[in-house]
Amino acid sequence: MASVRILEGIGVGTRAVRAEVLRWSACKPLPAMSKSELGAEVEVNTLTKAIANLENQYVAKIKAASDKDLREILEAQSAFASDPELADMVKDFCEQGWDAASALQLAMGEFKSLLEGAGGEFGERVADLDEIVYRLIQWMSGESDETILPTTGSFVIVADDLTPMDTIAFTDVVVGVVTKGGGPTSHTAIVCRSRGIPAVVACSGADNLVNGQMVVIDPDASQVIINGELESATGDWWAARPRLSAPVIQVMANVGSVADAAKVHGADGVGLLRTELFFLDHKVSPTRAQQVKIYEEVLAAGPDGEIIVRTLDAGSDKPIAFLGLGREENPALGVRGQRVAATSPEFFADQLHAIKQAADSVKATGKKIEVSVMAPMIATVEEAEQFSKAARAVGFVRVGIMIEIPAITQVISQLKGVVDFLSIGTNDLSQYLFAADRVNSGVAALLNPWQPALLSLLESIATDSAKVGIKVGVCGEAASDPLLAVVLVGLGITSVSASPSSVAAVLDLLSRVDESAAREAATNARSANNPRDAKAAAKAALESYHG
Ligand code: PEP
Ligand code: MG
Repeated sequence: MASVRILEGIGVGTRAVRAEVLRWSACKPLPAMSKSELGAEVEVNTLTKAIANLENQYVAKIKAASDKDLREILEAQSAFASDPELADMVKDFCEQGWDAASALQLAMGEFKSLLEGAGGEFGERVADLDEIVYRLIQWMSGESDETILPTTGSFVIVADDLTPMDTIAFTDVVVGVVTKGGGPTSHTAIVCRSRGIPAVVACSGADNLVNGQMVVIDPDASQVIINGELESATGDWWAARPRLSAPVIQVMANVGSVADAAKVHGADGVGLLRTELFFLDHKVSPTRAQQVKIYEEVLAAGPDGEIIVRTLDAGSDKPIAFLGLGREENPALGVRGQRVAATSPEFFADQLHAIKQAADSVKATGKKIEVSVMAPMIATVEEAEQFSKAARAVGFVRVGIMIEIPAITQVISQLKGVVDFLSIGTNDLSQYLFAADRVNSGVAALLNPWQPALLSLLESIATDSAKVGIKVGVCGEAASDPLLAVVLVGLGITSVSASPSSVAAVLDLLSRVDESAAREAATNARSANNPRDAKAAAKAALESYHG
């Protein structure tokens, strides 16, 4: 019998699958830089045709894309490919004597350094640019860019990393994905999560996987089990537990678009409405009236209940062109989140008024919502005071802040009377706690939300908040893992907000545990020495708990 080996990574999803490995062929190297023998006009023409062809491909793929996340990624890539600034830059390089492929690489190089300077989510967009360059050069060299998948069977795709164009080619034969690169917020993770394909990303041992090998993808355990059996995987192990009358704490949903809002079912409101996602592609600042329209649409499409709207979390991984934030050496440590209110006071004031106006007009239609606002990236009590004062002056009754920066966790008691609720963003809190860039796959293991140090910090935030009577929720990705949501309850967290595709699973498990079971799971997890043991300890505690 073939020996069983385990590779560790970061799991995406909860369902385990077993299938045969199919390695995704890596991109070929780009051609060496060379000067044109045909002249600038011919080179520019060639490239113009290549771009037109790529645009047509994008139109077809966007039409064929069945899910929203993938469509949005492809739309963003398509916008990059047809950006007139890019065409101008390429033309300049052709006029300096470079051939089309070289001019394209040089122009993209300039674009890339701009984006890399912006950091964060723009780091992922750098991969988009690489893909555009690759596709255009392939077309110019007369090669096909289609990857052929078998028409029958079931496969686990293994790759260094995958681009959105790769994932759109996936048919039903793809039942799992393993990538060496990527992280909890990479394109691969986002697309797999929204398409329901179990995956393990940031799997450094992925190079060991060869075609034809049978593997189990166990996202719940964040493992790839070579020659494993499905019985050894975890899956929805809690299904046998009896269901209680209601979830042990409030389960809300995270929303970043109208489509997200419409997808929310069963959640008790929205715990995080990411407003900056509406403006990522805006080159000029939206007027107050335009903002009102956007917020009205998303509020009308979403669930009833409490809706927590986060004011603009711009900068770093969410660059907003019209704010003119400029290049920073370390954007994750720069002018971002609430700090932007000082550099763009007009937008900040407009946004608060627009949210209030939209909330009032949607409520007037009879929709049962209570809209509150919260500020991202708050570091000091003074910042919280300023935000709270500004929001209350506009008419908001409930005002909160996000807990994402370790400094604010040290002064929670001083927030009494300043804010009404706290919402922990575990994505950024982990990034700053572990000094690990959230978009760098090389440090993804540190960002595992099961890290015991993070759990301990969450417990102390919950304890300090309870002492001064402030409710504290979690809206980072940690809350989308059902077992971790149980641990959060045990640590003293009073609500969770999960991605729309995870709400059902989180609700299900939180309806099968009580507070004392959750406390036992939390105590065990917090005292483990690593994320894997923390998760195993929480699970073991729940399995052996009989009230
Ligand atoms: C977080 O940091 O956990 C969070 C919810 O905010 P975002 O992911 O939008 O930065
Ligand atoms: Mg954040």
